[in-house]
Amino acid sequence: MKLRIGYFYKDLLNLYGDNGNVEILVSRCKKRNIDVDVYEVGLETKLNKFFMSGIDLVFMGGGPDSSQKEMYKDLTTSKASFLRDYIISGGVSLFVCGSYQLLGHYYKSADGSTLQGLGIFDLSTEHPGNSAARCVGNVVCTMSSTITGDPSFPHESGFGGSLVGFENHGGRTNLGTKSSEFAVIRRGFGNNGKDGTEGIHFMNSIGTYLHGPVLSKNPHLADFLIAKSLELPASGLAKLDDGLILNAHNIALDLN
Ligand code: GLN
Repeated sequence: MKLRIGYFYKDLLNLYGDNGNVEILVSRCKKRNIDVDVYEVGLETKLNKFFMSGIDLVFMGGGPDSSQKEMYKDLTTSKASFLRDYIISGGVSLFVCGSYQLLGHYYKSADGSTLQGLGIFDLSTEHPGNSAARCVGNVVCTMSSTITGDPSFPHESGFGGSLVGFENHGGRTNLGTKSSEFAVIRRGFGNNGKDGTEGIHFMNSIGTYLHGPVLSKNPHLADFLIAKSLELPASGLAKLDDGLILNAHNIALDLN
């Protein structure tokens, strides 16, 4: 068995250790003797349908407005159609913060310039300007039942449906009528600090504002992504000893 990860813009979108998410996926596969290939997709990478047909999981991290502007042209001209076909055909993916924003209709950045997004996710994001307070801090949220009710979700993990992480974004995201949230906020801002939603769950793609990296204290989410990518039920993955991580997760649940 092999998991093939397409890791987009590793050098440009790696805010707050987001590249750790790929390391965690690789580690949790190797502990189960699942081979993993990580294919880095950068500005110079020319995609094709054959390459994308061989990808089981796409990951893209977050970045400051400047990095988003640096990868934006390549994303929208060279990568967009391949990501769109991959996502709407049910490909599994995880997008964090800055990349999550660009998968929507548009991102109005802090300087007032607007980046037209890929329009794959029905959402829009607006940064109110650098004089406005950022959405920063520890986050506690509960994943949507569209995730926790999936046969690939590990119910026996001991982590339940809770997620903990860290957020730091200026952009406020509003989900469109065709969207459903990834999680519901219990503590923190999430999409916009107003409607109690965090991220998006669209087909088999997840967008989230959680850094940390998000998978570091949420191994149940990591295992869901692995099982889903390999088209396995949760029971298809050997259980790992996550005792220490569970302690860290539970401590984070109580952070104010
Ligand atoms: N630059 C975007 C914002 O400020 C995304 C930040 C991030 O990826 N953490 O909202």
